[in-house]
Amino acid sequence: MITFYPGPSKVYPVVEQYLQEAFHEGVLSINHRSQACMNLTRTAIDLLHEKLAIPQDYTIYFISSATEVWEIVAQSLTQQHSLHLYNGAFGEKWADYAERIVPQVTRLPFGVETPLLAVDLPSLSPDVVCLTQNETSNGTQLHHWQNVAEQYPDALLAIDTTSSMAGITLDWQKADVWFASVQKCFGLPAGMAIMVCSPKALARAFAIGDRKYYNSLLFIHENFIKFQTHYTPNVLAIYLLAKVLALQPPIALVHERIRQQAQEWYAFLEEHFQENQAEGLYPLVQNQAVRSDTVITIAGKPALIAQLKQQFQTAGITVGNGYGAWKDTTFRIANFPAISSADIWALKEELLKKSYIQYEL
Ligand SMILES: *Cc1c(COP(=O)(O)O)cnc(C)c1O
Repeated sequence: MITFYPGPSKVYPVVEQYLQEAFHEGVLSINHRSQACMNLTRTAIDLLHEKLAIPQDYTIYFISSATEVWEIVAQSLTQQHSLHLYNGAFGEKWADYAERIVPQVTRLPFGVETPLLAVDLPSLSPDVVCLTQNETSNGTQLHHWQNVAEQYPDALLAIDTTSSMAGITLDWQKADVWFASVQKCFGLPAGMAIMVCSPKALARAFAIGDRKYYNSLLFIHENFIKFQTHYTPNVLAIYLLAKVLALQPPIALVHERIRQQAQEWYAFLEEHFQENQAEGLYPLVQNQAVRSDTVITIAGKPALIAQLKQQFQTAGITVGNGYGAWKDTTFRIANFPAISSADIWALKEELLKKSYIQYEL
């Protein structure tokens, strides 16, 4: 079974071995306040700093999911007003969650083909600006947001990198809250997320002083300075994270490979299918400047998409369904680090069968 599902996604094959090691080493039963657990947490955090080049003065926390970070940002970092700029379903969902918690939410949707730098920014004073760096629902990616930083200099910038962190390099200094769950580019089973905070974000948490919830950022922080967690954590997830990160090359090298593979995917689609767009397949996102490196959305007529999905299923290959408005006209493929070039070739071969059929006709 080969999977290109963009989350939960393919786990590194070596996870099988680490699962057994975790069992035999007794990791699955360790107490979460024990020295062994604190050592494990510390190792995983040190490796995140090292492998992903996260600055030493940015703090790292483990929580249950990216969705939980949406909630933590709203509860512990937003006094009055959050501004949400988005072009897809995940960014929109974040605004929906914030709306139930935060007194004032402003939504600024923009087009799939529009670079964020071209978006007109109203004069507002939000506490937090929320951006989705990699919009998993449509395969777009934000590279730059200096216009947002300049327009709202006092706001915290919170960036959802759920489907890009650990796949591409991130310019950590350019935002205050970053987060991702491990079932995407980290190549691990679902059930944990990583939240990274700048000193400015932490200072804001202290200024606001929220302590109302079990997952108030200040409680989380007070536990993590002791390498403990605010609840009994998924120790297996922390163990697997540390084991898998230890094998990773520096993020700059991972980025280079992922970038190259993405460019090859887009070139492949253009080369083989672009000639006759009405019948063929093409990248949903036409503007190359906003195309994602880690989630590639492929569009075509509904009948063709349905037929291909059937064909992939027969070949034992899973792809991601289209999302929301693009449900029937697209499918999505993850370009995450755990996916091998053999997997990619298997999918390209299936796609080529389709193009041969077309050329024979
Ligand atoms: C998958 C995803 C989420 C949700 O992640 P969970 O860990 O399931 O909460 C949020 N944002 C984006 C961009 C995603 O791709």
